[in-house]
Amino acid sequence: MSNPNATPPLSLAACQQCDAQDPLRGLRDAFALPAGVIYLDGNSLGALPRTTEACVADGITRQWGQSLIRAWNSEGWFALPRQLGARIAPLIGAQPTDVVVADSTSINLFKVLSAALSTMRALSPQRRTVLTETDNFPTDLYIAQSLCAQYGLSLRCVPPQELLAHLDTEVAVLMLTHVNYRTGAMHDLRALTQAAHAVGALTVWDLAHSAGAVPLALHADEADYAIGCGYKYLNGGPGAPAFVWVHPKHQALGQQPLSGWWGHAQPFAFDAQYCPAPDIGRFQCGTQSVLALQALGCGLSVFEQAQALGGMAALRAKSLALTQTFLDLMALRCPSADLQCVTPRTDTQRGSQLSFQSASVDTYALTQALIARGVIGDFRAGDSNGAPDLLRLGFAPLYIGFEDVWHAVDVLVQVLASGLWRDPVFAQRHGVT
Ligand SMILES: *Cc1c(COP(=O)(O)O)cnc(C)c1O
Repeated sequence: MSNPNATPPLSLAACQQCDAQDPLRGLRDAFALPAGVIYLDGNSLGALPRTTEACVADGITRQWGQSLIRAWNSEGWFALPRQLGARIAPLIGAQPTDVVVADSTSINLFKVLSAALSTMRALSPQRRTVLTETDNFPTDLYIAQSLCAQYGLSLRCVPPQELLAHLDTEVAVLMLTHVNYRTGAMHDLRALTQAAHAVGALTVWDLAHSAGAVPLALHADEADYAIGCGYKYLNGGPGAPAFVWVHPKHQALGQQPLSGWWGHAQPFAFDAQYCPAPDIGRFQCGTQSVLALQALGCGLSVFEQAQALGGMAALRAKSLALTQTFLDLMALRCPSADLQCVTPRTDTQRGSQLSFQSASVDTYALTQALIARGVIGDFRAGDSNGAPDLLRLGFAPLYIGFEDVWHAVDVLVQVLASGLWRDPVFAQRHGVT
């Protein structure tokens, strides 16, 4: 949008006009989106870039098929983890040499949380607590539970509004997900990092729902450790490799427990003794899927195209305008008794998704009915702590437009008004929600 502060468009024609004036609009053509689908789940699995198929085919047929093992050098396979890390760096406000791509988000969390805890054990052994929030993504909680058991520490889980009150001198590490996967609520990374440092704790940030969606300034904000996901907003493909960022002052400290040969200072010395790389390279473990790394590169190249059009700042302005338009159209057209938005309305507190709860509508069946009508979002179940069931809609600004928002609200209003979601076929549960 030329002016994201303008009055949000509340008609189909106004939405179409916003798209026509949107300088980022052309980036949508970089994706192979199916006809008849409005894809509001790029926060869970990003869309397919048009270049990925040919790039992976080339990786298989020419590089692997013809170059065989020579391709580690001739095609630059060995350099890919650091090279892709350097390409992610501008999206997260990092120096190019401080990011490496490897493994999964869960595995990287294990590596950086271990490194942070071993650093703190040396500095401040009396600190016995990892602080996080109750509503963190389960894998983050599970990894922290395992490491706390191993280190003899306690994991303190509190509601987000109580984090500051619980930051005390017992805390070794504050471990948070920047944008909450359920609600889309976004923490103030800089303020919480400063608050953690003020009590002598380190920070570990999970950027799964931030990287590629909101601008980040990890280095300037003096965060300590961060990890993020390759298959969500970065569009690297299902199960794409993830990334690790570590502030340069911590890279040579702390123990990365998965001390595999790719993290060695000289992997091809084949030394019997582990000697970690002095830099971010030590956060690698072993050989990666080269084809998956190459597919992630195709996702990153779309962000590189966006760079000339204003980069992450422009994408963020568009994302906020998209979510705001969705909320304004909902306020206009959808009875508020049906669905309530749980995502903060304040721009600085919201990521790139909207989540809705309902007392009168089965949000699982509603999600399924929307998918049947071509509007793909997803469902996140509530829990025993009182978190509600949610319909979750993600707005990836690289390929979602204002007309998509208009049609998505239109379909949602129709599905609610007609009661289509009550059809028993939509209540049938699938393995993946
Ligand atoms: C998606 C997501 C993950 C995913 O972890 P994987 O190891 O890729 O399965 C982890 N943490 C958060 C907060 C996520 O949103």
